[in-house]
Amino acid sequence: MALEAHKIALRATAKQRSWFAQQCGYARVAFNYGLSDFKDGLSKDEWRSARTLRQRFNAAKREKFDWCGACDQRASAYAFENLGDAIKRWKHGVNKFPKYKKRSHRQSYTIEGAKVKIENKHIRLPKIGKVHMFESLRFEGEIRQVTISRKAHRWFVSILVETGTPHTPRETRGLPVVGIDVGINSLATLDNGKQYPNPRPLKRYERKLKREQRKMSRKVFLSNNWYKQKRIVERIHYKIASIREDAHYKATTEIVKNASAIGIETLKITNMLKNQKLAKALSDSAIGGFLAKLKSKAEGLGIPVVEAPQFFASSKTCSRCGDKKEDLSLSERQYHCQSCGFTEDRDVNAAINLRTIVCGSHEM
Ligand SMILES: [Zn+2]
Repeated sequence: MALEAHKIALRATAKQRSWFAQQCGYARVAFNYGLSDFKDGLSKDEWRSARTLRQRFNAAKREKFDWCGACDQRASAYAFENLGDAIKRWKHGVNKFPKYKKRSHRQSYTIEGAKVKIENKHIRLPKIGKVHMFESLRFEGEIRQVTISRKAHRWFVSILVETGTPHTPRETRGLPVVGIDVGINSLATLDNGKQYPNPRPLKRYERKLKREQRKMSRKVFLSNNWYKQKRIVERIHYKIASIREDAHYKATTEIVKNASAIGIETLKITNMLKNQKLAKALSDSAIGGFLAKLKSKAEGLGIPVVEAPQFFASSKTCSRCGDKKEDLSLSERQYHCQSCGFTEDRDVNAAINLRTIVCGSHEM
């Protein structure tokens, strides 16, 4: 049995967006009420279980929070599961004592999936009804749990599905082994010469982001204007992340579709980040995130990913004769081998070396 999760952006109406915000608030209120009640119990030497806390909340809620009758009660039910987990982790010494959730905290709420229906690009949620999704659900099966969350101006639904079928590796016969060099000039270069450009969104939005962040720092902390400005800053962050993720998504999908195995380098990002000049460009292209995405996508399809040893000099080694250069400056875009005369684009040469690593270790 496999659980699969699919996160989909929602095209919600204004009414639905405020409904979501209300449910997030309700879940937060329930969590905080339960936590305070739990602390109260502790001070009286009384251990109140998550179930007890929930029952006590349900008994008191209509009087204390008269607006909650309009809310989805599943949102508060899950908040108590969440609280119970947090208490359990604290009890076992895994986490610190749970904290109250603030209004500035990430907005999200979760409900169990029994009453949720999906038809094509619509999700039918209890109480609010049909909400339009930007994509249809990728998996078939029983819906276990649904989480609604906000990122900047956009609301998302994360659907957990029990598919009932174990993962099956994909047929890869006839597809080539692919070596991939990642970098700043282009996000990824394949051994066959194909390149995926790097969008570098932070560079494009840097000034705007700084300007809006400065405005935020001048507002009164946690005031309404501060929240308003926070939304604007979040929106820019969201845009930057979306551009990056979009480029990563397109590249990784296409790469894994056409590979039987993949060779990549082990990026010691922390070491590279010490180089100040490179640091900004590197974190802007989010190479670590790209490689992680590539790995998880490939592994999900049963395609092996081989990482080069840490000090493997993929850029400095000649992919034809194996000769290794002592030094190769970053500005040298062409690799030219002194001993065999081989000339190739620097990144393509590196990618061919990374491909060779897979062939050697997998004998394909
Ligand atoms: Zn050579």
